[in-house]
Amino acid sequence: MADEPTIHRYPLEHEGAFVNAYLVETESSVIAIDSLLTVSESQAMREGIDKVGKPLRAVLLTHSHPDHYGGLTELVADDDVPIIAPQGVIDVIARDDDEKEQILRPMFGDEWAADRTFPNTSIRDGESVAFDGAIFTAIDLGPSESPHDSPWVLGGDERTVFLGDQIYGHKHCYLADGFHDEWLKNIEILRERFPSDAVLHIGHGGPAGSGDWDWQRAYIETFLEAVRTADWSSPEQAHVAVVTTMTEFLPTEELRFLMDLSIEPVAEQLGLTRSRA
Ligand SMILES: [Zn+2]
Repeated sequence: MADEPTIHRYPLEHEGAFVNAYLVETESSVIAIDSLLTVSESQAMREGIDKVGKPLRAVLLTHSHPDHYGGLTELVADDDVPIIAPQGVIDVIARDDDEKEQILRPMFGDEWAADRTFPNTSIRDGESVAFDGAIFTAIDLGPSESPHDSPWVLGGDERTVFLGDQIYGHKHCYLADGFHDEWLKNIEILRERFPSDAVLHIGHGGPAGSGDWDWQRAYIETFLEAVRTADWSSPEQAHVAVVTTMTEFLPTEELRFLMDLSIEPVAEQLGLTRSRA
């Protein structure tokens, strides 16, 4: 039996970190989970690979959102490696990338990579890839927190999980894609699946544990209820009412803008406001 893999979290400075990605170091390889958003953070993650001094063998993606694939170009650099995700994740990234460019360029300027790299290797639900005896198994969840999500399990005992954004580490959440019903169902499926002492490595904060499923469910349900009960005859006041409820539920500014960005889209999906289109 090979030594247990070592998990390195990036960025190294966790305080105030917007998004996490991971390097899994095995006996003679490095496997990356996600790639961060910005050029400079993904460059620093690349330096982390070079510091470990073992070759990058693959990148595994946990879902289709740009804060998880935007740094692929810097992370992979000149390495010819598989960037692996279910076909649904690959398709959503290709479909939505132009739209993400429109949103992220004004927000991040040159820190949003001009030259973006997409996943190039698809995997099916339940299929595994192995490096030095470290076995990673893909879970193809379909729509959940993003339009297509794919947590990865490391090892046969399912005690180490790269969960993507199925749980946020007590930070505000992004619900604008509108798959909250699927997300709530997936929470129950995943909660059942993993042992209660599993370590859940997540995309924002963490690590989380099985006790955090309840928190995530409560966050989503509180948000939906706040949007439903707001008075949408005044959209401005409705927005403020949702923010007030959510900052009472979770008194932090961390990732609050993701929640802010979700209010009007979810109101529209619930048929509470008219489409601006
Ligand atoms: Zn994310």
